[in-house]
Amino acid sequence: MGLGFSAEGRPIFANRHGTPGGRRVLVIGVIHGDEDDGLAIVNNLSTQPVPDGVELWLVESMNPDGQANLDRHNGNSVDLNRNFPYKWGPIGEPGNGQYAGTGPASEPETQAIVNLISQLQPDIAIWYHQDLFVVNPASGREGRVRARYAELAGLPMGQITGGTYTGIAATWARNELSGNDGVAFIVELGSTLSPTEAATHADAVRTIAVEG
Ligand SMILES: [Zn+2]
Repeated sequence: MGLGFSAEGRPIFANRHGTPGGRRVLVIGVIHGDEDDGLAIVNNLSTQPVPDGVELWLVESMNPDGQANLDRHNGNSVDLNRNFPYKWGPIGEPGNGQYAGTGPASEPETQAIVNLISQLQPDIAIWYHQDLFVVNPASGREGRVRARYAELAGLPMGQITGGTYTGIAATWARNELSGNDGVAFIVELGSTLSPTEAATHADAVRTIAVEG
């Protein structure tokens, strides 16, 4: 289904697979336009059988402008992973690497995903990035699911540091989904992803979707 359009007018889509009414799992393949290896994982998830009892929602890309422009940002030079409306803060200006936009959810891509997640209330949401090759640890159920994913996918656990982390998509989603103990996290892939590795990641998604 169509979720809306990017700053430069490109459509953003979500596709549903699997068991209607099952455990809802949302996977977003691309948020930073120049970090697009998650596409191969989404492609595997869309073409292989979904485990029974799982309602799988796939957004290939929430940043088609960035993909077309081979750029991290959307068509307004905004870092979409600094634009989400929870603990948003101003960062930089157009041209700055982490420019956060003019305000919380100022960008149409952010609004499209905020609307989708607010309506779907997925149990688990995942965003793919590159190329730090790590999953951040966390506590509680969130931490257990992340650690299981990392184990299955062969990624180390470790802290991502060094940036300014306001307006992050997964942080917003975690807050949005907290009433149902929902899980939302970032997977930092490496600089490349082989077809075999993409299949391993897709298997990890299917496994945590079943295990919860
Ligand atoms: Zn990224």
